Amino acid sequence: MFETVIGLEVHVQLNTKTKLFCSCPTSFAEHQNSNTCPTCLALPGALPVVNKEAAIKAMKLGYAINANVNHSSSFDRKSYFYPDSPSAYQITQFTKAIVQKGEIFIDLADGTQKRIGMTQAHLEADAGKNMHDGNHSKVDLNRAGTPLLEIVSDPDMRSAAEAVAFLKKLHSTVRYLDISNANMQEGSFRCDVNVSIRPKGQEAFGTRVEIKNINSFKFVSAAIAYEVQRQTEAYEDGVYEEEVNQETRLWNVDEGVTKSMRGKEEAADYRYFPDPDLRPLIVTEEMIEAAKIMPELPDEKVKRYVEVLGIKSSDAHVITSDKEMAYYFEEMLEQGAKPKIAVTWLTSELLGRLNKAGYSIEKSPIDAKTLGALVAKISDDTISGKGGKEILDYMMENESRDIDALIDTLGLAQVSDDGAILEIIDTILASNQDKVEQYKAGKEKLFGFFVGQTMKASKGSANPGKVNELLKQRLS
Ligand code: ADP
Ligand code: MG
Ligand code: ZN
Repeated sequence: MFETVIGLEVHVQLNTKTKLFCSCPTSFAEHQNSNTCPTCLALPGALPVVNKEAAIKAMKLGYAINANVNHSSSFDRKSYFYPDSPSAYQITQFTKAIVQKGEIFIDLADGTQKRIGMTQAHLEADAGKNMHDGNHSKVDLNRAGTPLLEIVSDPDMRSAAEAVAFLKKLHSTVRYLDISNANMQEGSFRCDVNVSIRPKGQEAFGTRVEIKNINSFKFVSAAIAYEVQRQTEAYEDGVYEEEVNQETRLWNVDEGVTKSMRGKEEAADYRYFPDPDLRPLIVTEEMIEAAKIMPELPDEKVKRYVEVLGIKSSDAHVITSDKEMAYYFEEMLEQGAKPKIAVTWLTSELLGRLNKAGYSIEKSPIDAKTLGALVAKISDDTISGKGGKEILDYMMENESRDIDALIDTLGLAQVSDDGAILEIIDTILASNQDKVEQYKAGKEKLFGFFVGQTMKASKGSANPGKVNELLKQRLS
């Protein structure tokens, strides 16, 4: 029996206004090489200056994961040649990162949490992009020098599910902190997966393989499963030494396999040395203060939702897994919706409809204010749940968001007035004398029949709670 060992390295693109060492904008630019200057083009004599905003955003992550935020850290040059890096080195933090030794708690399927140690998070400059176009290759340096935070975990994960849970937690954390948009398709959240196996009970780690740049949770899972199987088979066939090397591999989406890309570089291959153009990054009091301003993070939200709002832990996890969803939920409560019913209307009624229509919560055609107001009308019995669904369906197709007006136009106001309901009940009972007799003689199942008839006669507008209550009175 083998145990899987996984450690992750995640590159998060920080959402600063300007690049890490110059004042070029990080925004999308229409023209190639327009967001550039002598510094990010690496022209001789141009000097880098550290972007304070990037440092504060890195520190924010540090505080969020209970890490040490170093008041002094430094930058090194990692030498390699590639056309998208005009300086022929990358500026990174090799000897002393700004953030070290933290922890993240991942949520497992059985509802428990597991602690994953965080080795460090360091600042580094991104490269530009090479673009291949027929026989030509072109270089666009708009991205060169944009700030990345490389976040490195300890090898603490033991399954693909744990690795995915880790990535999801980290992803939602950086989104709550608003330090990155973390869009995986656009490459602002890229992940390298390190995988090894070892016989159960053995303390020493096996040889690790690094799978580079995977851009979806699904592929992370698939790549790990493939790699674990490949390494296990090699072990069982007695060819582990030959076939499992410390190397960099790539996940091939089409074939569903990992393929060797290159042998793993050793640190020495990069000729790391301190960047002589950059002094140590010294953190000021003002920066610490700014970095410590924190939103409520997912773990704290779950705790509050469960303990204060009284909602189920599993629901709290679903809602807080995504910042947009949590904010949506909280805005519904501000509109007077009660927590438990708000959960149902958000997670099943609204999300169900959004999924069908192909919208994310961010693009929801029905905003939180409107859904909150609708749910409040259900809670106070102005309309029934069924009426609420009708309004929701109507709003998915139409512009109007005036709930009161919609209740009117769609004729959904619920009758809760005793007099009006009793009138209907009495007619129903009068025309079903035989059944009333049977009921009184002990055939209690008939109660449902009376409820159904009353609801039907009211065209569904009677408040069912009231109908039950008044029927019981009349029949006793
Ligand atoms: P490098 O920077 O060369 O990729 P690091 O020592 O920084 O190497 O480790 C990178 C990642 O590999 C870390 O996330 C770490 O947890 C993970 N890792 C280290 N050893 C193993 C192993 N035996 N199996 C799986 N992951 C490992
Ligand atoms: Mg690495
Ligand atoms: Zn620049």
